[in-house]
Amino acid sequence: MKIAVLRERFEGESRVAATPETIAKYIALGAEVAVEKGAGEASRLSDDDFQQAGATIGATAAATLKGADIVLCVRRPAADELVGVNKGALLVGALDPYGNEKDVAALAKAGVAAMSMEFMPRITRAQVMDILSSQANLAGYQAVIEASKVFDRAMPMMMTAAGTVRPAKAFVMGAGVAGLQAIATAKRLGAVVSATDVRAAAGEQVESLGAKFIMTEALKDASGTGGYARELTKDEQAAQAELVAGHISKQDIVVTTALIPGRPAPKLVTKAMVESMAPGSVIVDLAAERGGNVELTQPGKVITHNGVTIIGYTNLAGHIPTTASQLYARNLLAFITTLIDAKEKKLAVNWDDELVKATVLTRDGAVVHSAFVAPKTDTAGDTEAKPAPAKKPAAKKPATRKPSAGKATASQTSASKTATAPKADAGQAPEAKPAPRKTAARKPAAKAAAAEAGPQADAPATAPAAKTPAVEKPAAKKPAARKPAAKKPAARKPAANKPAAPEGGDN
Ligand code: NAD
Repeated sequence: MKIAVLRERFEGESRVAATPETIAKYIALGAEVAVEKGAGEASRLSDDDFQQAGATIGATAAATLKGADIVLCVRRPAADELVGVNKGALLVGALDPYGNEKDVAALAKAGVAAMSMEFMPRITRAQVMDILSSQANLAGYQAVIEASKVFDRAMPMMMTAAGTVRPAKAFVMGAGVAGLQAIATAKRLGAVVSATDVRAAAGEQVESLGAKFIMTEALKDASGTGGYARELTKDEQAAQAELVAGHISKQDIVVTTALIPGRPAPKLVTKAMVESMAPGSVIVDLAAERGGNVELTQPGKVITHNGVTIIGYTNLAGHIPTTASQLYARNLLAFITTLIDAKEKKLAVNWDDELVKATVLTRDGAVVHSAFVAPKTDTAGDTEAKPAPAKKPAAKKPATRKPSAGKATASQTSASKTATAPKADAGQAPEAKPAPRKTAARKPAAKAAAAEAGPQADAPATAPAAKTPAVEKPAAKKPAARKPAAKKPAARKPAANKPAAPEGGDN
């Protein structure tokens, strides 16, 4: 049983699908592992590290793939790159099938069984395999770090002999996995944090992190199915826009993460709202990959408008590739372990297992996933129901990719998910393990995050989780002219001059 790990070819992709830690475990399961030369370089994993873990290094993709039974990847490789794998080999990664149906069909034709990790069901057993959660959690953290790099003031309140510095105000829109981690991170850095979401349940999670939850009275709850949000009605959208307009003009840092399964990202921040913010303010749009929550966002780019910096990176987890690879590789290991008979030391896929059924896109030369197969019509004329897309709606197709590789969109980052608690484990990034969907189960983690915010935190770590979220009335009027965020906006560095984080990640 041979496992091959490819070097990523998608432009700017800095992650890798296996680490020395996971490779040692694959070998213990009876596999031999080949890693393509340089595959871990951007994640600071050398070929030597992989070799010491027991892998062989393939000089080329072809040499690495020869005779492989399982191919691990971050982004979907082009079908014609998979030359030499065994018939029916598994291809496992973030395959980003929506909008890329032709490429999926090509994978089927190539005879591989492609398994899309984004389709992993959000059930307890599969939490450890949830790449959307592990990567969104990191993206939420990194969003605040990126904002702090561009922001030209201190985040926490500082009382010094030279006077007091007021804390920055941060506003997080969308309190799912990424949003909750953004809140926790901004709190830890000492900002005064507020957040909004359209799901009422998010309110207590926000408050348990010590942030203020704001929601319009007109919008009681827009929870959809499976813990996700539903699309707002026109009236609800107008009420939300009014609420946001009144609040956003007072913010220094805004992180937007709002997504609705199967839909383009809702537009929440208009040009006028951006213009109401003080020069020096920063917006990070984590929904950039799906069109963005901010009207002015340019996916993959950092722009400034009226002195407000808008960061539209589409692969924020890829900006911390070492941690992102570590968690992603563990997600894959957890899934692959279920596909191997450890006693017999051989591949033993149970095609009826719900995790396999949910993730398999292609098998035996055909596209088999129900989301991509035309509905069958029976003799009575009934049509077989087609399940809703698991998650990603493919609003916009991102961009550039090196010509050699098949095209793929960024799929791991902004679209992902986990609550936010830092894990106690040394060496483990916060939230390696997604919190259970139930709010109650997240509380301890949330408390820990709030407690970690330290003395600067302005809200008690013990915020009562059961408390009803505070409702902020929409501002009747647009606030009058406000003070600039900093006294001397002239001193700020133009965003364009900022190093664009690790080369990687954005497209
Ligand atoms: P997501 O990425 O689909 O969306 C991000 C957030 O945006 C959500 O909280 C959503 O409610 C919010 N949103 C949508 N429209 C909005 C609008 N107009 N204004 C403001 N906010 C808006 O969500 P996610 O991070 O994947 O989380 C979705 C749910 O799944 C959450 O309840 C989360 O706790 C849960 N979850 C469960 C598991 C599990 O059980 N294994 C794992 C991860 C997440």
